[in-house]
Amino acid sequence: MIHRAFEAGVTEIYLPNVDSETISPLHALVDAFPQNCFPMMGLHPCSVKQESMENELVLVKHWLDTRDYVAVGEIGLDLFWDKSTLDIQIEALKRQCGWAIEKDLPVVLHCRESTAESIEVIRPFAERGLKGVFHCFSGTLEEAKMAIEMDFFLGIGGVLTFKKSGLADIVSQIPLEYVVLETDAPYLAPVPFRGKRNESAYIRNILEALSAIRRIGKNELAEITTTNARRLFKRL
Ligand SMILES: [Zn+2]
Repeated sequence: MIHRAFEAGVTEIYLPNVDSETISPLHALVDAFPQNCFPMMGLHPCSVKQESMENELVLVKHWLDTRDYVAVGEIGLDLFWDKSTLDIQIEALKRQCGWAIEKDLPVVLHCRESTAESIEVIRPFAERGLKGVFHCFSGTLEEAKMAIEMDFFLGIGGVLTFKKSGLADIVSQIPLEYVVLETDAPYLAPVPFRGKRNESAYIRNILEALSAIRRIGKNELAEITTTNARRLFKRL
């Protein structure tokens, strides 16, 4: 999969963490491709459970203090899978945003069916200088504008190629300086791979879709979105 990504011209892959179970495979992949794979550290909202949250967060903090990461992620709120944990999801998000500020790292936010709630939690941190990206952005145009006002990027992925998503309409109205492209592998593969396992090489299909929507050449667009990604992850 990594070599297919290289063949597609993808040379930098930013990898979110999920929870304690994904840390070893994440580090192993980064150690195998240290020039190309860049890790994040964080606890995903879908892995926030009452009984394990404290231990999981201790581990996240341990690793943030131990290794270099490009972001605190993936963190956020998920109201699609489990609304009952919203309170502790908010608590985990706030604590991790605090660490991001402390470490001067951006955050990669997961906000499934929770863009409004996430903006509310993030805003006071943004006022203290927190930066980041609303990954797999799925909010409204108003929410997109609020994110941009906080100087946050919008992560645009395979959903852009789904006809009924309405995302194309939103993306055509926001400045390209705030757009980063993403695959969200293994989920949300772009057309013509929709429903299959997503992978990094498919970023090309997302680039092509945005290029058609914004009527801008693929090379020029790739340069803009790559620069944005490097700006986001402080790799410029
Ligand atoms: Zn996510």
